[in-house]
Order: sequence, then structure tokens, then C-alpha cells
Amino acid sequence: MTTEIYLDGNATTAVLPAAIAAAADAMGQRYGNPSSSHGTGLKAKAVLDQARACALRLLGVGDGRLMFNSGATEGIQTAVLSALVALRERRERGEAIGSLLVYGATEHKAVPESLAHWNRLLGLNLTLHKLPVDHDGAHDLAQLRALAPQAALVCTMAANNETGIITDLAAISALLAETGSQAYWLVDCVQALGKLDLNLAATRIDYAPFSGHKLYAPKGVGMLYVRAGAPFTPLIMGGGQEGGQRSGTENMAGIAALGAVLAALEQGDTFRSHHQLASFRARLADSLRAALPGVVFNHPFDKSLPTTLNFSVPGLTSRELMDVFDAAHVRVSSGSACSAAKAAPSYVLDAMQAPLWRSAGAIRMSFGPLADEATIADACRRIERCGAALRASCLIPSERTAVPHDGLLQLGVEGACSWLVLDAASRSCIVIDPLPDMIGRIESYVRCQNYQVQAIVTTLPDADRAQLAGALGRHFDVHAATDAYGWPASAAGAIQIGAHALASVADGASRHYLLGAIGLAPQSVRFAFCAQPALDVLRPLTCAQTLLCPTRDEHNQFCLGMAEPATATAQAEPPLQLDSAALDAFLQAHPDAQLIDVREPYEFAATIAPGPAGRSARSVPLSRLAEHASSWLQDASVPLVFFCRSGNRSLKAAQCLRRLGHRQAYSLGGGLALAPMALAA
Ligand code: PLP
Repeated sequence: MTTEIYLDGNATTAVLPAAIAAAADAMGQRYGNPSSSHGTGLKAKAVLDQARACALRLLGVGDGRLMFNSGATEGIQTAVLSALVALRERRERGEAIGSLLVYGATEHKAVPESLAHWNRLLGLNLTLHKLPVDHDGAHDLAQLRALAPQAALVCTMAANNETGIITDLAAISALLAETGSQAYWLVDCVQALGKLDLNLAATRIDYAPFSGHKLYAPKGVGMLYVRAGAPFTPLIMGGGQEGGQRSGTENMAGIAALGAVLAALEQGDTFRSHHQLASFRARLADSLRAALPGVVFNHPFDKSLPTTLNFSVPGLTSRELMDVFDAAHVRVSSGSACSAAKAAPSYVLDAMQAPLWRSAGAIRMSFGPLADEATIADACRRIERCGAALRASCLIPSERTAVPHDGLLQLGVEGACSWLVLDAASRSCIVIDPLPDMIGRIESYVRCQNYQVQAIVTTLPDADRAQLAGALGRHFDVHAATDAYGWPASAAGAIQIGAHALASVADGASRHYLLGAIGLAPQSVRFAFCAQPALDVLRPLTCAQTLLCPTRDEHNQFCLGMAEPATATAQAEPPLQLDSAALDAFLQAHPDAQLIDVREPYEFAATIAPGPAGRSARSVPLSRLAEHASSWLQDASVPLVFFCRSGNRSLKAAQCLRRLGHRQAYSLGGGLALAPMALAA
């Protein structure tokens, strides 16, 4: 159960054992330069020739060209350069050329970026035109038909890398023929190799780039097909390798490995059939439906590669899904580029007019044609585990009420945060500063834990609380009278919550809130909540141990101390980070040290491996750090080693504790990802 399940095949694949052997042979036994005429060189040339012969047959290159290169990005450059140079020459000869460089809206970035780059560099000044796609990711063929007579170059991918959607190349070919279009045609075949039949010379396609690392060859090797008669200009000039088409001594290890993959493909007994792959996808989809209620698939399965699933789950961000899968050692990717706080929407799903929640929350699960039964079965079990972890953490609806939390919970987004004061015994809570983006999350948390919300208060008079109040239903008495800050008219000086009390402190137009033992003597105030730290107002009401909990937290500080910032002491600070090698020695020297997992509770619950150094760890997610910091500071001699997946979150936790004066707080550098497998797996 502890091995990694790699379901990110559209990003890259592992290398086929036969390809590793071929690469090792090319570097060990047959290390010659294929351009040398002596025996050592001839042995290497035989490897090169064999790989090429196999590629020519497999892709149906006919009289066309096929050159090895560094991968698809290079192939795309060469194709675009070749087409644009020819267009410029034709224009200079006075021939009419189209004015448009048309590319599909869901193309890999390498295509529009290359078009813009070479169009500018060659001074062509043609117009880039993004061809829209429909809800199913299919190109707008009516628009392409209308544009075809003015198109100079058309770029469409064979299959999309995010969704696996397959382009109807036959329809495009027919349309170009019917309109008498003179356009050159580039088809990015990266995701199609090994998954779709290609017989290139029998098509109208002029340029087809390929990449080895998407089909079990190493990174840094690829191929470009150019149709016989299509214009060609080398991108790289020099020693004339590859028949003068691509100079530079060949990447023989890569070519030998790619040759081994192509040979396996040609032989036909290594990779799974379309039917088998489709049945694997159906099983994964069933598990996702069972584990993640409401999951939506972002592409029609019958029109996409059988190896790709792209999905979104209502109420969950792609970051949360990525994190829970990663904790279960299932490697997937988010369909979009993630920034630290918020995921940027996927341009592919945007082009398909998917709603924002689906486009920004998309996850891609993809496997290669080497996938096997056992891996898919294991992946399905882990998907179930991830679903259970998310249910237990109230991130997706659950029929059972979750075990209630006690203390403080911080929910943040982009530098601002809401705080929840929770009392498990009375199942009641108070919300401080509900952020608009957090309202759905707070609501489902309250419902799932079955809390009664005693008050929703704000540090500034604002309307967001009304939105949350409206959403909470029977969990909150909307009719209770409050002031503009949500403070209940019935609560005189303080609201009692379990054994604690919350008091409100007026400060000009803003309010601060103090939380501590009933009576709220300064010595017993544990937390002070405020929009901006207001030390002058708060100091007489609090004590040195009180933690300041800001509702703006741009720098991810979680909480601050009331004391003045510590001035440099004579004693040198111990290092903040321990790497996994140093951790063993540290734990031997400090057997009382506590290992703290700061990942979210759903990641902790989905985890399939013991903590670092094989020791069990305690789960204190960053959202609960303030609550626990207050207790840890009471005995700051116990070392705390924070860890997370990559070391980023644990570093913030350790920095927070150090700032608060805990000199024995550390972060595991590189996180679980870099911990040796014996420890992390
Ligand atoms: N085109 C598509 C569809 C891809 O998926 C990729 C890789 O992500 C590329 C082009 C670029 O390929 P390479 O990594 O070989 O440069």
C-alpha cells in the first residue's frame, strides 16, 4: 500500500525498462559518434538507423522527412519557422499568401508562443487567430471553413494534453481540401503517439512533432515529421547531422531509448489496447463518482483518449484535491497553474466555456498504455481513502456528523482570514470576520459538525456576515438583535462559549475581540482578534502570553506576540531547518521532541506512510496553529519538528513559533517528498 501510484502520464512517463537498457547500451557499449566512420562509430550509427527505420514504418512517413530532435517544443519551432520562412519567400515573390496564423484555442502553449515569436522575428506581421472550441473541446469547424481561404498556417493538436479530447483531423483535412486552402497544416501529435493510429503520409498534414517522454522514452528526445514537398528550414545549423536537417551530435542515449519504445509499439505486445485502457478509465471514473459526490468530468469520454480523466468536485479546490491525492501517494496534476493561494483557471477548460469553479478546480488523472490491472485496482482503493479523508474533514458532505473540534480555527484566503471559536462540549461556535470567499466553507463546516453559531461578529462594520447568517439556516438565530458588528444585543460585556468568554473592545470605527477564561482578567486572555494589531489599545487588557490573531495575514504569520519584537540575543539561534539526514541524529539527541504534521487533516487522514524517521506524528494543521502555539509556548523547552509535504508550510509554522519566542521549533527541509523512501514510505 505504500508505493507511489503515478497517474500523471500526460505530463511525462517513467522510462520503459527496455528503453533504459537501450540507453545504457548506447552510453556503455555503443558510445560511438554515429558520424565517425570507424567501427565504434558504425555501431552507434546502426542504432540510429534502426530507430529511424522503425519510426518511418510506424508513423507511415512515406517520402516525407523524419528527424530526431530534442522534443516537441523544438519540433514545433522547426515547423513554424519552416512554414513562415516559406510564406515570407512566397510573399516576396509577389504570390498571394493568407493573412492568418490560425491555432486551436486549446493548443499547448508552445504553439501560439512559437507563432508569435517567429512571426515577429521574421517581420511577417500576419495575424494570429485563436480558433474557438465548443463545450466538448471540438474546433469550430464552421469558423475554420470561413477562415480557411485566408489562412496561411493552421495548427491543431491531435489530442489535448489536459482533457485528452481527440481532434477530428479527417474533418479538418476535408474542409481544407474543399475550400482549396493553401494553408500549411501543423498537427501536434505529442499525446497521440502510442494511443492513436497515425499514417502520416496518407494525410494532408505538413508537420507533426512528437516527444519521447510522453511515451516511456526519456526527456530530451523527440521527432519531427515533415510531409514530402512541404517547405523546410533547419532550426539548427552546424555539422550537418540528421541529413543536414538538424545539426548537433545526436542524443544517442535518447534516440536508442525512443527506438526501443517504437520497436515495442511496432511489435504490439507491450502496450494495452484501446479497449483495455478504456476499461481502466471507467473503473477510475466509477471510484471517483463513489468517493467524491458531485464530481463532474470535464470532457466527453467517447471523444477523448482512453488514458485521460479531467474532473472537478463542487466545493473543493484543485489544491485540496492535489494535496489529498499526494498524501495517498497518488500523483495527479491540477489542470491549471496553481499560485500559492488560488488556482488560476485552466485556459483549456475556459476555452470550452466551463464554469469558473470547474476550470479553476480541475484535476487531471492520466496514465500511459503500460498501465496494469493491479495499479488501477490500487488507485481505486486509494481514491476511496481520499474520499473518506475529505468527508471526515467536512470538505465534502457526509451522512455522519464529524467529531467536533475545540478551540480556534483559522480559515484564510489571499492574505485575509476568518476565525472560528469552537466549543466541542456545547457544540457551539462564534465566527469572527466571515470572508466572502470562505462563507461556503464555514457553512459546510458548521453543518457537518452540527454546531450552533452563537454570533457572527466583525472587526469592521460590514455586510458579509448577513450572507453567512442567511446561509446557516437552523444553525443560527438570524432574528436575534445585533449591532453593526454583529454583537448580540443580549450579550452585555461578553459572550460565554463553554468555559471561555469573548469580549468586544471598541476602537474608533473598528472592534477588537478578546478570548479567554470567563471574567477575562488580562492574565487569562489567550487571544486577541483584530483587523490591524492595535497594541496600545490591547496592552492594558491583555498579558504577555496573549496571542494576536489578525484578520489580515498577508505574510502568513498566523499569530503574533503581544511582546515587543525580540532584540538580538547573545545566544546564536539554532538552525531553523533540519534535513532528513540531520533529523535522525536530532531525534536521538532529543527523544522528547514532538513531530508535528502541519498538513491539512484530510492529508493526514489520507496518508499511507508513517511519519518521518518512522515515528508517529501529531496532526496540527496550519489552520489550528494559533490554538496550539499558545500551549506549546507554556513549555518552550520541548523541541517541535514541523513537517509537511514539501517543507514550505512547515517552514512557516517554525518561523511563527520562533517569532513567538520558541527557540526549539524546526522545520523538516524538503518535507516528506525528499525524506528517504524508508522513512517516508
Ligand atoms: N505539445 C503537447 C500537446 C504537450 O503535451 C507537450 C508537453 O507537455 C508539448 C507539446 C511539449 O513537449 P516537449 O516537452 O517535448 O517539449
